[in-house]
Amino acid sequence: MKTLYLDNNATTQVAPEVLDAMLPYFRDLYGNPSSMHSFGGQVAKKISNAREQAAALIGALPDEIIFTSCGTESDNAAIRSALATNPEKRHIVTSRVEHPAVKALCASLSRQGYKITEVSVDKNGLLDMEQYENGLTPDTAVVSLMWANNETGVIFPVEKAAEIAHMHGIPFHTDAVQSAGKIPINMKSNVIDMLSISGHKLHAPKGIGVLYVRRGTRFSPFLIGGHQEKGRRGGTENSPGIIGLGSACELASGNLDMENTRVKGLRDKLENTLIKIIPQSKVNGDRTHRLPNTSNISFEYIEGEAILLLMNEHGICASSGSACTSGSLQPSHVLHAMGVPFTMAHGSIRFSLSIYNTEEEIDLVIKTLPPIIERLRSMSPFWSNAAQSCKSE
Ligand code: PLP
Repeated sequence: MKTLYLDNNATTQVAPEVLDAMLPYFRDLYGNPSSMHSFGGQVAKKISNAREQAAALIGALPDEIIFTSCGTESDNAAIRSALATNPEKRHIVTSRVEHPAVKALCASLSRQGYKITEVSVDKNGLLDMEQYENGLTPDTAVVSLMWANNETGVIFPVEKAAEIAHMHGIPFHTDAVQSAGKIPINMKSNVIDMLSISGHKLHAPKGIGVLYVRRGTRFSPFLIGGHQEKGRRGGTENSPGIIGLGSACELASGNLDMENTRVKGLRDKLENTLIKIIPQSKVNGDRTHRLPNTSNISFEYIEGEAILLLMNEHGICASSGSACTSGSLQPSHVLHAMGVPFTMAHGSIRFSLSIYNTEEEIDLVIKTLPPIIERLRSMSPFWSNAAQSCKSE
């Protein structure tokens, strides 16, 4: 059975061009980029080319790019650096809907005595800007707010939020793991100090990430060791991963228009048709301020996990929350923060598309899903109670 992959916010397929760019650096060109000989030197040159490609995707300077192992490392490195360079400050401002790479780190820091303020979102997942500004204090060491949410795709006004943080003299970090490569990012036109990217969300392999650190920002390394990355991240470089990421960033720059036209069109067709033909279904998250590839839909009175299992029988891959939280039966902290009722939150499915999806695939999901929902609802006591009470009203 053919796999129909609509789970691109969890991870993406490595682009064929990216794989081709990487292969020689596994097979033949295995020199250490720090070596004095030219066998290593040619790898160093290719890494510096990849740094330029990554910088170009976000309008940064090459020396503002630090290669890391993943988005989680980038988030940890950014927040810990801000704390280390502002040791007298003990307060962090973040949001209620961050990925665990930020949320769980903040929970761990709170156990070590840091004070954490988690700013609320409204019913559409949009950040409460008034609460955000009121939450900044003279003791705030750093603000960390995601650019786009991994579960709903909702976009936060991080450029504006960074300006506000700066008015209070506070450094600003954003987790751009889901937005990089999907929407335009230009670090020349904002004041964000640090930004995280993960390779495997934009058609590079797993195990490679970027931390952008603006020139002039005080930085304290997370991994201390050799002089790699100008002493900002010790450890022999993951040369094939870095070269793959560079290639993926170049491809993503060229595909941004397609993300926002063709991919968005397919997402909208899927979403609009499903909510039209399936009763008691609803899109979660603001539909204007949203990534072009993401749709989070609740099908009331049934379990998201059951929907996933039945879709899986047809080869359709989606998700019921973030990749890290699916597998547990806890309702998503993101939908909870948005006040989505329990009966809706439990039946939520995230579809996340990529440039590799086709209209035929979307049509197949539109055909396959309604009978699955109907079948599950016919077995749901909540659904028959709801139908009963509708009749008696
Ligand atoms: N931040 C966000 C918003 C994510 O969606 C993810 C992964 O799902 C991460 C951080 C973690 O990235 P990585 O898997 O590269 O550690």
